[in-house]
Order: sequence, then structure tokens, then C-alpha cells
Amino acid sequence: MNDAMKDSLCNSCNLRPAFFARTYSGERLCRKCFSLSIESKVKATINKYKMLRFDDRIAVAVSGGKDSLSLLHILVKTEKNQLKSSIIAIIIDEGIQNYRDEALQIAISNCNELRIDYQIISFKDLYGFTLDEIISRRKKNEKQSSCAFCGVLRRKAINYGARLVKANKIATGHTLDDEVQTILLNIFHGDLSRLTKGKPVSEVVHPCFVQKIKPFCEVLERESALYAYVKNIRFQDKPCPYASEALRNDVRSMLNNMEEKHAGTKFTIFKTIEKIRPVLEQITRKKSFGECSNCGEPASLGLCKACEMLDRVS
Ligand code: SF4
Ligand code: ZN
Ligand code: ZN
Repeated sequence: MNDAMKDSLCNSCNLRPAFFARTYSGERLCRKCFSLSIESKVKATINKYKMLRFDDRIAVAVSGGKDSLSLLHILVKTEKNQLKSSIIAIIIDEGIQNYRDEALQIAISNCNELRIDYQIISFKDLYGFTLDEIISRRKKNEKQSSCAFCGVLRRKAINYGARLVKANKIATGHTLDDEVQTILLNIFHGDLSRLTKGKPVSEVVHPCFVQKIKPFCEVLERESALYAYVKNIRFQDKPCPYASEALRNDVRSMLNNMEEKHAGTKFTIFKTIEKIRPVLEQITRKKSFGECSNCGEPASLGLCKACEMLDRVS
């Protein structure tokens, strides 16, 4: 709570002291009203984008970080009792020494606390290599970053895990910050096709792909972290040793500076892309998907991206 907040009452309930000022809306909220506001926002997002049906089985991709764990807690609270939907956590073990073990243990203890089942999928079991081994085997002239390898392999592992537990939806903890950073990165890379794909609800372009939803796509990262703090959710805050994607970090700092000076910037960028996405879809060619000649998973060329990457390190 900063000095300006001292003695000010929450302007939602007018009962309890405010502890948080939401700059883009001018609200000052107490802890209880703040957490209720995040839960309502997530519910409203789910309804607005028609993310869930009453009989869905949702696989929540849980990394052990604040965003995926806040999402898991909110979905269990808001969806499990109200819908017939069942929730299961998918925990990916990439195999990152001195990092992932702690995250796994935190993710599991949250699942136990919430009494939900979880399924762990490890890179070692699925691909024969941990991420550490893959990174150490990369060729010197390899252009793709550790995160590019990890991202492709993790997406495939999550999709595989979701199918294994017979889920028909995958919920990820991507926040508004993640979404806007990705939008700008795709613009910087001139990648129109990816710009059209990053929707709050994914299009199922092959029957083996489980539909992905992003219920946090309109929640700021700092509010997701604050929710975890207010709700005493234990999460891992140690950064991944490979997290050094220079361009994303630059974009993150730039957006945070803009948001600080011009509250609401991130949301405006997100809304603008949502509005122009139908036009973008018309001018980009849709990829057709067949099956990977190695693993049989969906692929737009002969090998899926994961097999093609693994081929380069085998
Ligand atoms: Fe994977 Fe990069 Fe995230 Fe680490 S920071 S878990 S390497 S995507
Ligand atoms: Zn209040
Ligand atoms: Zn493959």
C-alpha cells in the first residue's frame, strides 16, 4: 500500500481499506474486492469468447509460476462447481536442472491442496532428451534460441498430455502482457500468419489438436501476481536459467514503460488486434495440416516442428 492509499476506503464495498489502485480504471480496491474483480474478469472473458461449455474437460497447463497457478485456483473455484466440467492439471517437466524440480513440487502441492488430479509429462520420456540435453547438443551455428526449442516441444507435450487425459480444452495462463508482447514480436518479425493465430480461443485445424483457451488474456500480469499474493498461492518466482530472449525482454520493458505513462496501452493494443484479426485472416494463407512422417502428430510439412528440431540435435 503506498502513502496515497492510506486511510482511503475501497470504492467498491466502501467498507474496507483500499490496498491497490487500478490506474487504468481509477478504482481503489480492498483485497477482497480486488480478488473478486479478477475472478469476475476471468468469468466475463470465458463468456465473451465462449471458451467453455458445461460438459468440458479442461486440462490446465500448469508450470508452477504465478499465472498458471492463479488460473488453476480461479478455474477450480469458478468452474468446477458451477459447470459439469472437470479440471485436471498438465504439468510439463522439461528437464531443467536447479529449476524445474522446485516448480514441479510447487505445482503438485497446489493440485493436492485443490484436490485435483494432475498428469506429468516429461521431455525425457516423450522425446528421449531433457531440455538441458537438447541445449547442450545444439550445433554451434544453431539460430533458434533455447526458448524456441522449449516452446515447440512444450506445446506438443501439452497437447499430447491433454489427449492422454481425454480433455477437450487446454487452458493456459497467458496474460494480457504475454499476448501483447507476442503481438508486437510478430509485428517486429513481420509474421502475419502468427499474428492471426494467437486468438483467445484457438482454431482446431486438425482433429489431433486440442482446442486452447486463454482465460487470462485480459488480465494484466501484475494483477495475476497480486492475485496469487492476496490468495496466498505458493508459486515459483525463480527465473528459468534459459530465460534470456533479448527481444521479448526489450518489448516487455517498452510496454511496461508505456503502461506506466499511459495506463491502458496494453489493453488498447490487444483490442485493436482483435478488431483487425478477421481482415488479417482473409489476407493470410491458411496452412493445411497432414501428419508428421516420424511421429504421426499434425504437421504442415513432412516432419512436425518438434521432430524437425529433435532431428537437428540427434
Ligand atoms: Fe522454456 Fe524459455 Fe520458459 Fe525456460 S524461459 S521454461 S527455456 S520457454
Ligand atoms: Zn472492497
Ligand atoms: Zn513429429
